[in-house]
Amino acid sequence: MQVLSVTPEIFPLVKSGGLADVAGALPIALAKQGVSTRTLVPGYPVVMGAFSRMKPLLTYSDIQGSEARLFAIDISGLDLLVLDAPHLFDRIGGPYGDASGAEWADNWRRFAALGQVGADIAAGAIPGYAPDIVHAHDWQAAMTLAYMRYGKAAGVPSVMTVHNLAFQGRFPAAIFSELGLPASAMSIDGVEYYGGVGYMKAGLQAAWAITTVSPTYAQEIRTPAFGMGLEGLVNLRAADLTGIVNGIDVDIWDPATDRHLAANFSAKTVKLRTANKRAVEERFQLDQDGGPILCVVSRLTWQKGMDVLSSILDEVVASGARLAILGSGDVALEAALLAGAARHPGRVGAIIGFDETLSHIMQGGCDAIVIPSRFEPCGLTQLYGLRYGCVPIVARTGGLADTVIEANEAALGAGVATGFQFAPENGNSFLHAIRRAVAVYADRPVWASIQRQGMKSDVSWARSAGKYAQLYRSLISRKAA
Ligand code: ADP
Repeated sequence: MQVLSVTPEIFPLVKSGGLADVAGALPIALAKQGVSTRTLVPGYPVVMGAFSRMKPLLTYSDIQGSEARLFAIDISGLDLLVLDAPHLFDRIGGPYGDASGAEWADNWRRFAALGQVGADIAAGAIPGYAPDIVHAHDWQAAMTLAYMRYGKAAGVPSVMTVHNLAFQGRFPAAIFSELGLPASAMSIDGVEYYGGVGYMKAGLQAAWAITTVSPTYAQEIRTPAFGMGLEGLVNLRAADLTGIVNGIDVDIWDPATDRHLAANFSAKTVKLRTANKRAVEERFQLDQDGGPILCVVSRLTWQKGMDVLSSILDEVVASGARLAILGSGDVALEAALLAGAARHPGRVGAIIGFDETLSHIMQGGCDAIVIPSRFEPCGLTQLYGLRYGCVPIVARTGGLADTVIEANEAALGAGVATGFQFAPENGNSFLHAIRRAVAVYADRPVWASIQRQGMKSDVSWARSAGKYAQLYRSLISRKAA
């Protein structure tokens, strides 16, 4: 089975969040299920810099305003199709905006181009390559499915995966005339969205099947609180919607071999984590004492509940826990957390930035990771936490609810607890969960059993890749029927 995956990010080349991890890990897990994946990605400078020029597979004289080329390369075991369109992607900054975080004004054009080329490949543009399935990730890839639907590849089964419905790719109606779609597409069952053009909406409408990254989030997005205006459409398509929880790359994220760590360890040698804890204390200039270190590795945003954390910071310190914060995002939240660190030297440390290596050390050395998200489609950091004995303390929402077993009395009694959950999402219940965790931490054998239980949970891609493979097969047989 041949899958064409279309994505705006892919680990290890370009990553701003969990979508990149998924796009990078799923093809490798699917290969073990007999599914081969080619992945179409934009030719950002980091991607173009990862290979030397060769003969392009395809050339275009005009894709959204200028010429473009498609290269096929193999990087880190991934079979990539790189869309080299310098007028769209050769820019300094992130995948969606400049270094200051301001979004590129022509994102609609950039990701329309990705979709046009995706649909072209789906229709057989590459000689000898006919994908059985096209799998689009998030709004940036969603237009692939719209171009397929209104073009030559309408008969190719497709999957739209929603990694976060909060990001929708919504643009003014004026762009429609430049998309190259038939006039009929500008309708309520096409790409039209509240009077403008909606890329995610268009993908949800056109996809043969829709998935999101956890069963709980699949239910949540059917409600106004989580559907962000798309709940009506999501409900209409409920029969084609499933939730498949993300896995993680358990080879990259393996505490027994992870080269980023000061000391490697396994479920049998959890005590060796201490060396990593020392490393965290040094990096964040935290006091050394016998209490727990809680950590944050996150985008610093409202979605992630970082304002809630900031509002209870003093009480968290009073509970006896120390806090190590790594993240970047909203300038106001960055400032608030830095101010919290300045208020509590030795107790709270904050590093603003994106640091993959440090994120590994924190998972391997901190005692718990706090994730107070208001919504969380899946979440990956709790999965890394489980695997590294860094006990997750999470809001009971989306994928967090699906992957962490709350340490209530029954679960503790049965020895199956893997972390702490809290609801509703507010400062009081979050603080209550932190206090519970601090109290349990004092009972070391119980804490160690929660750690070990987490480290035993299967957070690999194996089961979920099987579910994607099964979904692909069911769509192919629907096509045949
Ligand atoms: P989201 O995709 O919504 O940001 P996820 O939990 O799904 O949240 O994925 C976030 C990913 O980004 C994880 O791999 C996490 O370790 C990583 N990450 C987030 N912030 C940072 C940071 N400041 N430094 C290093 N890694 C980070």
